[in-house]
Amino acid sequence: MSFDTLLKGGVLPDGTTADIAIQDGRIAAISAGIDAEAGEIIDVSGNLISPPFVDPHFHMDATLSYGQPRINASGTLLEGIGLWGELKPLLTHEAVKERALAYCDWAASMGLLAIRTHVDVCDDRLLAVEALLEVKREISHYIDLQLVAFPQDGLYRSPTARENTVRALDMGVDVVGGIPHFERTMADGQASVTELCEIAAERGLMVDMHCDETDDPLSRHIEQLAYETQRLGLQGRVAGSHLTSMHSMDNYYVSKLLPLIAEAEVAAIPNPLINITLQGRHDTYPKRRGQTRVPEMLQHGIRVGFGQDCVLDPWYSLGTADMLDVAFMGLHVAQMTSPSDMRRCYEMVTTQSAAIMGLEDYGLEVGKRADLVVLDAGNPIEAIRLRAARLMVMARGKVIARRERSPMRLDIPGREADIDRRFSVPEPR
Ligand SMILES: [Zn+2]
Repeated sequence: MSFDTLLKGGVLPDGTTADIAIQDGRIAAISAGIDAEAGEIIDVSGNLISPPFVDPHFHMDATLSYGQPRINASGTLLEGIGLWGELKPLLTHEAVKERALAYCDWAASMGLLAIRTHVDVCDDRLLAVEALLEVKREISHYIDLQLVAFPQDGLYRSPTARENTVRALDMGVDVVGGIPHFERTMADGQASVTELCEIAAERGLMVDMHCDETDDPLSRHIEQLAYETQRLGLQGRVAGSHLTSMHSMDNYYVSKLLPLIAEAEVAAIPNPLINITLQGRHDTYPKRRGQTRVPEMLQHGIRVGFGQDCVLDPWYSLGTADMLDVAFMGLHVAQMTSPSDMRRCYEMVTTQSAAIMGLEDYGLEVGKRADLVVLDAGNPIEAIRLRAARLMVMARGKVIARRERSPMRLDIPGREADIDRRFSVPEPR
């Protein structure tokens, strides 16, 4: 028996130790002590082997544009949208593509191998759509890129948004987006949800809307989104991104809303790094966190995936393509500190987000595509705690990024030299 590659001694996310054999770009075997020849045998003992990180909410047309044409002084969502409006007419095909590809290098190096990006269609040139469709093809051998047609300036508020959304879908964009809370009236917001869901149903597409990204407790477009999902038979194919207004809603209303979302099988995509900075901006103190009700949604059986949303763009001045930063912030803001909750936070940047994106070939299972990441951590909780270094990233069975473990060396008499801040207790159950 001989394989292309054999990874020896890795720790799987569930805590078991196993070898993984890879053949023809797929996982051929996972079990303890695989005794076989291989083109390359890689010792990963004691390190976490994980399916790749997945970002279910991003803006690749805007990423790495920080400072162009100026910096967001207030740091608010609305100034960010205004600033993006100033940058949009200055965009070129080449610049959008170059920034996106540079970001994808960061992502690949961090083991982030599946990204759902919204692409703004409120630019009659649809230049970012074209550029990102090209990027999608060019990176398809290492990153799964899914595009969402996103009418950033409002389906009705912007005169050509509806037409451009349809044009973008005709060009091959995968998912129908929306932004109901940005329309001029609640009624227009509701109508936009209905119309966009109908477009998705006609075309057999998924839906992912920026929904209720506001602190206004009366922003209830998620209700309409769940209702239309059921009416049109879109169960399991719809996601509501952000849903921050739910943080501020009346508890009685939420007790009625969550079962509806669960019944409609609508997934939720909170974006903790962004919403902890953007929300609560009209508050003095106490200042609301603005993150949607993650633990309560999980209790209702609603699928939740954490998104990154922004890296160095008009809305966010930081970001590194590290989904562990996202899980870390989400865990803190949601106060999900029990061992099982912390593990769920890891799943929300891996398996749960993959399910939201409908990635059928994803996962550490025999027969699936050999996409994985090896981390300098003993388990998923430690990976979040350390925002652990990636030691190796594999896409379609090929190693696409690799580094040596490099612990800091102390020079303090009487103390051990190597220090890596791992903490070797058995993972608490
Ligand atoms: Zn977004």
